[in-house]
Amino acid sequence: LEQESLSWRTETSEVYRINAAAGDGEGCPVSDEMAGLLQECLELSGKSEGAFDITIGALTRVWNIDKWAREGETEGFRPPSPEERESALEKCGSGRVRLEWVTGDGSQARIYLPEGMQLDLGAVGKGLALSRILELLEEEPEVSGAVVYLGGSVLTYGSRPDGGSWKIGIADPSDPSSSVGILTLEGQWCVSTSGDYERYVTVDGVRYHHILDPATGYPARSGLCSVTIVCGSGLLADALSTACFVLGSEQGLDLAKSYGAEALLVEEDGTLRMTEGMREIFSAQE
Ligand code: ADP
Ligand code: MG
Repeated sequence: LEQESLSWRTETSEVYRINAAAGDGEGCPVSDEMAGLLQECLELSGKSEGAFDITIGALTRVWNIDKWAREGETEGFRPPSPEERESALEKCGSGRVRLEWVTGDGSQARIYLPEGMQLDLGAVGKGLALSRILELLEEEPEVSGAVVYLGGSVLTYGSRPDGGSWKIGIADPSDPSSSVGILTLEGQWCVSTSGDYERYVTVDGVRYHHILDPATGYPARSGLCSVTIVCGSGLLADALSTACFVLGSEQGLDLAKSYGAEALLVEEDGTLRMTEGMREIFSAQE
């Protein structure tokens, strides 16, 4: 998925091609699958008032997120200067993307990025991977149940051999080796957690993490330490966990509800907030 579609660093990927065509008046042809993905992401940008934004590639690059958050190379990290940040922010903004899709005449979908804009699909990669894995599982009749774990994203599928429910522990951001509680799920669900406790770097006592607030250009500080989303779609679970993390408790809960997703939020002081439906599937640690 990385090599063919999502990676902005791999020349063979669709996102690489799209980014390379930024500023080209002819736009860039994209596969229907990519067009559908982009459409969902752009919609979420609108509904989250820009808190979730896949056009923040220029910003994630000046923060060098790939280096330290993905590869763990924190040595020599320094935050970008205000000028670097400002000039990167000018290149971001989903509102300036044009996506032509379902054209009626059957022609291929096209995307138009303004000069300098770069897509970063890092927030939805694992969710999409879960959706692909789900398709593979559905082709295997002998698989009656499975749990698939990809970093912060989990897929439950089918049933357990012993007939019991799936149990998923939600990490405690203040001590990720223990949990704030357990989710109890039946059948097929996608669960995604975004937090500031796994990938971060500390410089002069300041902790920088990898989820950026497009409104400020800095790592998001919304009073949350983690957000867990439970819903039917891998893409949506992954995207919403990032979006709600940036938005904070009140707006985050509203956004999750508007998508019919369940959300569990851990605030900085350890307070748990959740949607109504989450109360039925989550039991807090005693
Ligand atoms: P993880 O990849 O650790 O599970 P997320 O799913 O929350 O975490 O995605 C974080 C990644 O998404 C970052 O590494 C970056 O590539 C990208 N990103 C950061 N901030 C945003 C944002 N506000 N909107 C969309 N994507 C973002
Ligand atoms: Mg995410």
